[in-house]
Amino acid sequence: MAEAAILRVRHCRADIFCRRPPARCPACGRPLRGAGLPAAPLRLPSPFRHGHRQPRAFLLRPTAGTFLGGYDGKSDLHVGITNSHGVVYNYNEEGIHRAETGWEQCISIPLVQPDMFGLLQEWDKLLEEFSVGEAWLPHRYEEHDYNCYTYALAFINSVLAAQGKQQMSKSEFTEKFVIPQTKKASKYITLHQELTANEFYVVPLPDQEKRC
Ligand SMILES: [Zn+2]
Repeated sequence: MAEAAILRVRHCRADIFCRRPPARCPACGRPLRGAGLPAAPLRLPSPFRHGHRQPRAFLLRPTAGTFLGGYDGKSDLHVGITNSHGVVYNYNEEGIHRAETGWEQCISIPLVQPDMFGLLQEWDKLLEEFSVGEAWLPHRYEEHDYNCYTYALAFINSVLAAQGKQQMSKSEFTEKFVIPQTKKASKYITLHQELTANEFYVVPLPDQEKRC
């Protein structure tokens, strides 16, 4: 699922987004080569990660399809937690799944810092033991109140509790960790969609940045 890079060139007091750097500025027609550093193409970092290569992370993806494959910004999202080998544990109406494929384009939030040695060692065992509990049998699933998010957050909270740390509510976790990532993703998806239809997408810079 390779995604074509999005490049940004700055000229004519605007950000010009494109897939391939144009020889000339689409606004003024002047050559961009030799037009100074702002006009040099800069590759935008993708907000998406290959989920199976993200150990010990909270992952988020559309329930159906992919973020860059036509996600409309409103459809249901699905979440899961990876073990140290990138297997995605996730809960739905069929119970717990241990997915080795299907999470190739995700928003990823790492859950374990590299210096948390004890937790790094224990993670897979904790996740497996947590997931075989009766709490996650299929019949307990409810679309709005007891779902993939309930499962993932309950696991995160069980880890926090075992470390003597304060637990997090769904809104705390969402605001602190998820929303900053989904905001970036949403901007990137907009650019991606614009550049599927058009060669350039031009965004005028706000006044204080009009320096080039
Ligand atoms: Zn220009």
